Amino acid sequence: MLGIERYDIPHTMGSSHGSTRIIRRAQHEGPNYVPLVERAYELWRDLEDQTGRDLLTITGSVHAGAPGTDVVANAREACVTHGIDHEELSALDVNERFPGYDLPAEFEAIYQPDGGYLDCERCVTAHVEAAHAHGATIRARERVIDWSETSDGVRVRTDKGRYEADELVVTAGPWTAELLPSIADDAVPVRALMAWLQPTEPAFFTPDRFPVFVLRDHDEGGYGFPVHDVPGFKFGQSGERQEVVDPDQMDHEPTAAEEELHRRFAEKFFPAGAGPTVALRPCIQSYSTDDDFVLGRAPGHDAVTVGAGFTGHGFKFASVTGEILADIATDGETTHDISAHSIDRL
Ligand SMILES: Cc1cc2nc3c(=O)[nH]c(=O)nc-3n(C[C@H](O)[C@H](O)[C@H](O)COP(=O)(O)OP(=O)(O)OC[C@H]3O[C@@H](n4cnc5c(N)ncnc54)[C@H](O)[C@@H]3O)c2cc1C
Repeated sequence: MLGIERYDIPHTMGSSHGSTRIIRRAQHEGPNYVPLVERAYELWRDLEDQTGRDLLTITGSVHAGAPGTDVVANAREACVTHGIDHEELSALDVNERFPGYDLPAEFEAIYQPDGGYLDCERCVTAHVEAAHAHGATIRARERVIDWSETSDGVRVRTDKGRYEADELVVTAGPWTAELLPSIADDAVPVRALMAWLQPTEPAFFTPDRFPVFVLRDHDEGGYGFPVHDVPGFKFGQSGERQEVVDPDQMDHEPTAAEEELHRRFAEKFFPAGAGPTVALRPCIQSYSTDDDFVLGRAPGHDAVTVGAGFTGHGFKFASVTGEILADIATDGETTHDISAHSIDRL
């Protein structure tokens, strides 16, 4: 097996950098995501065993929202549908139990004890280590220029060479449109910013006292983490789609306006985490037309499989989407239920 990566392993130009990614069983994106995340947890733990690396830290997860917003109801539905342990908490309960939080009194919340975060760069490294251990060759700093199907497989041309193989799997994240123009509308690259601020009360932002969160107010939303690796409370904003970008032209410098917007979010909901700026890093998310993933055989190609459109919540699934893409590439099908994510729906 050959893997080809145009930048380093890991790197900061795409979607998978920035130290942490949330993983949670409470899938407000829909109950159909729960079986996939359950398998993802198992595979992340397997990868830890294979590589001896710590990848997954459990902190619990909080879904919090203003009455009438949907994240809490949707997280509750996922938990109830799949019999997942969870607690209904008032804003006061959350603020007392987890003092880094300062939710408005009218907010409602769901706490789920198995949520946590993955160390994303370490996960990328661990996957490459495991691939090496299984005999794969990974070539970094080599860019795929194009590919074509042959009578018995595929031919791939890079800036350093040419390769032939039985099967090709394309997981090019924000660059998917370059390699598979036919699905460009289902892998639209959007800029997002991650912010780290120095907590004024560092003891409130440790992994044992600060669960990862997804929060939705009427006109804004966000997600965040305890301090890990980078010495700051990390969070980002979510919600309406933001700026569509060309991943090769995107400005990797944050703007003053982005910094200000993020600081206001922290001051409003996590004031003890809203000290001086520690780091600001842009990143790119890729969206399909219906926000579900895009998994399957590339249209019109028998030897090409694609994984794309992983949005702002796809990292936690990387372990299981890898398994699914491998199933499709080797057997033409998977036993996982991917009906919501199959490329055939588009
Ligand atoms: C700010 C932010 C916060 C997020 N938070 C979370 C979260 O908390 N939890 C969660 O689960 N998910 C989260 N996500 C989403 C998650 O990180 C992404 O869904 C996931 O990282 C997508 O991975 P990918 O492999 O599709 O893309 P990428 O990680 O960008 O990988 C694509 C790779 O293909 C390579 N490539 C592209 N073109 C070529 C070429 N021509 N030749 C060779 N190599 C090529 C790129 O260099 C890149 O390394 C977040 C994303 C962002 C940006």
